Amino acid sequence: MPSNISTTTEARIIDGKAIATAIRAEVKEQAQAFTSRTGIRPRIVFILVGTNPASEVYVRNKGTTSRESGFDSETIRYDESVSEFELLQKIAALNADPLTHAILCQLPLPKHISEEHVIEAIDPAKDIDGFHPVNIGRLSIGKGDYFAPCTPAGIMEMMIREGIETSGKHVVIVGRSNIVGKPLAALLVQKAAGANAVVTLAHTGAGSRLPEFTRSADILIAAMGVPHAITRDMVAPGAVVIDVGMNRISDPSKPSGTRLTGDVDYDEVKFVASRITPVPGGVGPMTIAMVMKNTLLAAERQKG
Ligand code: NAP
Repeated sequence: MPSNISTTTEARIIDGKAIATAIRAEVKEQAQAFTSRTGIRPRIVFILVGTNPASEVYVRNKGTTSRESGFDSETIRYDESVSEFELLQKIAALNADPLTHAILCQLPLPKHISEEHVIEAIDPAKDIDGFHPVNIGRLSIGKGDYFAPCTPAGIMEMMIREGIETSGKHVVIVGRSNIVGKPLAALLVQKAAGANAVVTLAHTGAGSRLPEFTRSADILIAAMGVPHAITRDMVAPGAVVIDVGMNRISDPSKPSGTRLTGDVDYDEVKFVASRITPVPGGVGPMTIAMVMKNTLLAAERQKG
């Protein structure tokens, strides 16, 4: 169908918040069963360095959700000036602690600390963020025990629960970051139920050809960090549109003077897409739900 055809109906909204709430309730129930079976409470430790306001909010939310899920949760805070050595020593101690099942070091870290060193220091069995090369490697191979990074895993789970068929579909992901785009592509191409897609991974190298790629998508996933970069003319009629973007833009009508918005021009694209995720309330809550799911999985794998 030509891309300039407009439809009068609006896309069905994919309610990530509701799906995430259901997943969290399931995790809570499974965690209770795990604890009564083993006497062990899943335990997650968050490491927060510095005072980045967004990181503070993310860690606070994940801590609250962990406790609601029936986990033990602790946040270890470090001043911005902490040395990489001190951080790595703490991670080594947590790796060795049999009562700690999951370690999440909130990124970004101050410039004097290597994120690679920190990520690679975390025991892959406790790396519920799924950023360790062992986890990423097994995910790419599609075999063995691994943790998939929480945002891509949340998107996969969201599509399964929404009944969105991916097998044989052309999925175009815009954004090739190591935490979203690349692992999401690796998950989608797996020869498995809920995957088996034909994937295009686009990035700035697409240049002016980007709309040509995005218009060929049955499922379009934007993970760019550019507010409203995906416009109506870039979306094929009937496509499913998933917006990973979380961008804070100025909005004088809000008391804070800002609001969160996605990478998709939601108000326009909703007239072309068949289904669409809102921001906020789409992918974001799914990410936190998958942190919980991965933490319980980590505890289950380590109990023996
Ligand atoms: P990132 O590391 O900044 O990567 C952005 C990617 O988008 C890069 O690959 C970049 O291409 C590509 N890109 C940027 N502008 C583009 C353009 N005009 N045309 C084509 N490609 C373009 O971002 P990220 O960490 O993956 O995050 C992406 C967004 O998702 C951000 O808004 C972030 O806040 C959000 N996010 C949300 C969640 C959640 O839970 N909802 C989780 C993680 C991230 P190049 O590689 O060529 O530079």
